[in-house]
Amino acid sequence: MEIEKNILNPRIPEGPIDKKWTNFKTYCKLVSPANKENLEIIVVGTGLAGASAAATLGELGYNVKVFCYSDTPRRAHSIAAQGGINAAKNYRNDGDTVYRLFLDTIKGGDYRSREANVFRLAELSNAIIDHCVAQGIPFARDYAGYLDTRSFGGALLARTFYARGQTGQQLLLGAYGALNRQVKRGKVKIYPRHDVLNIVLYNGKARGIIARDLITGEIKRFSAHAVVLATGGYGNVYFYSTNAKNSNGSLIWRAYKKGALFANPCFVQIHPTCIPIHGEYQSKLTLMSESLRNDGRVWVPKDIETAKKLQRGEIKANDIKPEDRDYFLERRYPTYGNLVPRDIASRAVKERCDAGFGVNKTGRAVFLDLSDAIKKLGIEEINRRYLNLFQMYEKITNENPYETPMMIYPGVHYTMGGLWVDYLLMTTIPGLFAIGECNFSDHGANRLGASALMQGLADGYFILPVTIGDYLASMIKEPPLPTDIEEFNNAEKEVIEEIEKLFSTKKTETVDNFHKRLGEIMWNKVGMSRNEKGLKEAIQEIRELREDFWKNVIVPGTMNELNQELEKALRVADFLELAELIAYDALHRKESCGSHFREEYQTIEGECLRDDENFAYVAAWKFNGLDKEPILYKDILEFKEVKVGIRSYK
Ligand SMILES: Cc1cc2nc3c(=O)[nH]c(=O)nc-3n(C[C@H](O)[C@H](O)[C@H](O)COP(=O)(O)OP(=O)(O)OC[C@H]3O[C@@H](n4cnc5c(N)ncnc54)[C@H](O)[C@@H]3O)c2cc1C
Repeated sequence: MEIEKNILNPRIPEGPIDKKWTNFKTYCKLVSPANKENLEIIVVGTGLAGASAAATLGELGYNVKVFCYSDTPRRAHSIAAQGGINAAKNYRNDGDTVYRLFLDTIKGGDYRSREANVFRLAELSNAIIDHCVAQGIPFARDYAGYLDTRSFGGALLARTFYARGQTGQQLLLGAYGALNRQVKRGKVKIYPRHDVLNIVLYNGKARGIIARDLITGEIKRFSAHAVVLATGGYGNVYFYSTNAKNSNGSLIWRAYKKGALFANPCFVQIHPTCIPIHGEYQSKLTLMSESLRNDGRVWVPKDIETAKKLQRGEIKANDIKPEDRDYFLERRYPTYGNLVPRDIASRAVKERCDAGFGVNKTGRAVFLDLSDAIKKLGIEEINRRYLNLFQMYEKITNENPYETPMMIYPGVHYTMGGLWVDYLLMTTIPGLFAIGECNFSDHGANRLGASALMQGLADGYFILPVTIGDYLASMIKEPPLPTDIEEFNNAEKEVIEEIEKLFSTKKTETVDNFHKRLGEIMWNKVGMSRNEKGLKEAIQEIRELREDFWKNVIVPGTMNELNQELEKALRVADFLELAELIAYDALHRKESCGSHFREEYQTIEGECLRDDENFAYVAAWKFNGLDKEPILYKDILEFKEVKVGIRSYK
C-alpha cells in the first residue's frame, strides 16, 4: 500500500466509471486452479459477508478456515436483518437504473463515499438478486409470481427486495447452504465458538490469528496466506443499539493497533424507528424495520398541551383527531415524506421530542401509525407485508399495533466507519482484507436502508473472491507458515497478558456497569448531535472510565473455562479505546454531514452544513499509542460523475 505524505492511494482502476470493475477483473492477476489448492485463507465472521466470501473462496478451490463466536454460523447478527435488500432491477418499471442507485447512494451518504466503489456496488446489485433467487431464497412475490419490491428511505422508487421482515435470515440460510456445500467438499472448515483475539503479522503481512476456544478457554494459533475480517459493526460501543448483544469492534480494533487504518469512525447511524427504551434493566434495543415507513405515517400532536396529556396518560393516540396531528416528516420533506433517509428522520424525531411534543411517559417517542394503511389495504395485506414485525412489537410492548399506533424513538443501529480498505477491499496491512459492515467502504456519512445486505453480499460473493486473487498471486511460492514461530508466540503472549490483567483488578464493578457508563457518555456527547465542548469532555471522561475499568472491573472465574464475563470484558475493554477514536474523529470533522451532526455547523433550518472545501475526504486514522493523538491520513474524494450539491429531500 502506497502512502505518500499522509494521502492514501485507494487503487481505483483506470477507465470510465462503468468500466472500472470490468477492467479490474480483466487485468488483475489470477491464481491458477493448481496453485489455489496450496493456498489457505482465514475468514473471521459468518454473517452475510463472511459466509458468502468463505463459500465462494471454497468453491474457487482455496482452503478456507472460517471462524465465529456463535455456536453455529447461522446465528451471526445478519440473521436479524429485517426489511430487505436493494437492487436496480427496475422490475416495477418505475425508472430505476444502476446509475440511479449509484446516485441515490452517493447522495444518501452525503457525498462522503468513493464514487468508484459505490458504482461497483450498484452494478453488482442485480447479480446478487439473481444469485440468491438461484439459491432458493424465498423473496416475496406478487400475485403473478414475479419478485415483489417495496420502498426504503432516500429513494423515490421501489427497489427493495424482501422476505417479509426476515430478509437477513433467508439470505443467511442461503449463504450457509453454500458454505456447507464447501464443507462437504472439504474446502471449508468451520470453527464455531472461537473468539479471534489477535492478528499475526509475518514480514509485515497478515498471516494468522490467535483465537480463544470459548468452550474450553484454550488459546489456539492458526496460520494462512491471507486473513479476511467480516466481523460486523461496532454500534454496541453505545451500549444500547439494535445490534446483537455480542456484536463488537474487537478484531478491527486490534487490527488498527497493529497498523491497519481506521476510517470515519464517527459515522454512526442512528435509526429513527426503534422501540423506545422502557426500563433500567433493558440490555438492547429492538428495531422496527424501516419498511414500515412504506405504509406508516410518523406524527406527534400539533398542540403541546395535547402532548402533555399523552405523556401523563390522560388521553390515547386515537383520541386525537387527524387534523390535530403533525405529520412532521410529510410537512418538512414533502417529496420524500416518511421515507427520508434515517439520519434526517432521526434528527426530526429528536427535534420534536426536544421541543416537548414526545408522546410517551418520558417524552422521548413519536407515533408510527399504520391505521390509514390498514383501512386502505386491509389487515390481510398488512399482515402479508409486516406480520412478524407487528407480532414482535406486541410481544415487547404489550400493546396491539393494529389498534393503537406504534411508538418509536431513534437508536444506534449501524456503523458506516470501519477499517479503511482500498478498491480491492484490502486494509493498509498487506494480506488483511475487511468486508461487510466492518469496513468503511460504500456508505459515506449515512447508509441508505437495505444497502448493508447488498454491500455484504457484493463484497462476499463477487468482489473479494476476485480481488484476493490479485494479492495471492504474489503468495503462491510461500509455503504454509508454521505456528511455533516468534510472531505467533508474541501475538499469543499479548492476548494472555491482557486476559491476566483483567483477572488482577480490585473487582468492584461489573463489566455491564462499565459498558452502560460508556454508553451514556457516547449517547449524550457523541450521539445524534455533537459539539466541540461535549466531544472534548467525552474524550476526557472516556479516558477516566478506561482507567477505572482496568482497576476495578469484576471478571469472575478463570480463563480456562467457558467464561462469558471474560468475553464481555475483552469487548468492553476494546470499546473503551475505540470510543475515544470515535469522539476524536467527530471533533476533528468540523462540518456536519449525514449522521455526523455538529451543532456548530447547521443551516438555518437545522440541516447539515457540509464543508466540501476542507472535508471532502475519508479520514483514516493510524494508531499512535493509547492516550496519544492518532495520525490522520486522507483518502481524498473526487467526484467526476456526480454533481455535488446540497443534499435536499424536501
Ligand atoms: C435489527 C437490524 C435489522 C437490519 N435490517 C437490515 C435490512 O433490512 N437491510 C439491510 O441491508 N441491512 C439491515 N441491517 C444491517 C445488516 O444486518 C448488517 O449490516 C449486516 O448483516 C452485517 O453483516 P456482516 O456480515 O458484515 O456482519 P455480521 O452479520 O454482524 O457478522 C459478524 C460475524 O463475525 C463474527 N465475529 C465478530 N467478531 C468476532 C471475533 N472476534 N471472533 C470470531 N468471530 C467474530 C460473528 O460471530 C459473526 O459471525 C439490519 C441491522 C439490524 C441490527
